[in-house]
Amino acid sequence: MPRFWTANRQLIRAINRSTVLNVVKSEGPVSRTEIVRLSGLSPATVSEITADLIAEGLICEKTAGDSTGGRPPILLALTQDAAYVVGIKLAEGHISAAITDIEANILSTLTVPAAGMHAVERAVVTLGEVVERVIAKASVPRERVTGVGIGLAGVIDAEGGLCRFSPILGWRDVPLKKLVEEQIGIPVYIDNDVNTLAMAEKWFGAGQDVDDFLVVTVGRGVGLGIVVNGQFYRGTRGGGGEFGHTVLASDGPLCDCGKRGCLEAYVADPALVRAAQEAVARSELSGVSAAELTVERVTELAQAGNETLRAIFCQAGEILGMGIANLLNIFNPALVIVSGEGVRAGDLLFEPMREAVARCVFDGLGQDTEIVIQDWGDEAWAWGAASLVLQEIFKSPIHARGSEVGLGALPD
Ligand SMILES: [Zn+2]
Repeated sequence: MPRFWTANRQLIRAINRSTVLNVVKSEGPVSRTEIVRLSGLSPATVSEITADLIAEGLICEKTAGDSTGGRPPILLALTQDAAYVVGIKLAEGHISAAITDIEANILSTLTVPAAGMHAVERAVVTLGEVVERVIAKASVPRERVTGVGIGLAGVIDAEGGLCRFSPILGWRDVPLKKLVEEQIGIPVYIDNDVNTLAMAEKWFGAGQDVDDFLVVTVGRGVGLGIVVNGQFYRGTRGGGGEFGHTVLASDGPLCDCGKRGCLEAYVADPALVRAAQEAVARSELSGVSAAELTVERVTELAQAGNETLRAIFCQAGEILGMGIANLLNIFNPALVIVSGEGVRAGDLLFEPMREAVARCVFDGLGQDTEIVIQDWGDEAWAWGAASLVLQEIFKSPIHARGSEVGLGALPD
């Protein structure tokens, strides 16, 4: 048999396997008959693949509790404890970790302060310790942990496992995947933190049935995850989506990246704090010292009605809305999910944002897009990083990174 033919048969089998697994993930508990109907595969193929998945322990048989007489139907569902994964967000000054089951349910979380992360060796050792601690905290067997996902801000080459540039950590070309794998002996996946959130939304959240959507994060920075035609868009070398560093005014405020007038230099947490401190310096804020102004405090005072601070959020929201209107013009997505720590500001930021979007978007495009402000929890970043590993279990080989395969309709 020619080699390409064997390769194609293996590929088709892998694609069918992914199809069945995803039907069980999204519809389970589900009968084999339903899987046949939903997948379009033949009963023989479904029977063969489900037998394999049961043998691997990824799915299991369940009997329906409620039966209308006769033999109760046998349903298939994901085996929840088939695998556990650890997700980690490496931030400036702290590390958050979560451990989840195969359906991305969080079993346990951990946040530890972490100083000195600029030194790579130190960061790798600390990451290893955090992984062990969160596994121990959840009391799951270490050998069932199939992977560790790490999300961090910056330009990340996910395929090469390389942090190409992280302005916050001061890293350039750090082979993070390899270093942490050597430290812990468990497969490691890394990606830009916003991409990990977009992945979590696509596989387990609001983006599950949406082919074209964007995730915009606000907080320490401003990030963008892009899903087009059901696939992640990363750019040529993983640098796509630097929405926060789109330049609005070349003589604007200085940004972390070294340039002036980036969107995040107006909208991100440090920008809000700086604007509040400047207001103190101009004696526009009474009874407040510049030193006590953290972003949480600034938000609290604005929510309590401080007009000077409300105006700062209003301007930030407006600039964010203009940026999002530009994104709608370029991508025409069905959904924009706004997420990140900055969601804490609520209407202070998002009312002016929505107004600016409506005002600035190209005529006729505004109504196509639903904008959802996501509830934010501290574990969300780590949950996103966990999905980096989980998607490896569910994704189809035709969506694999670096795949050269382009296939139309496939025979069963
Ligand atoms: Zn910048």
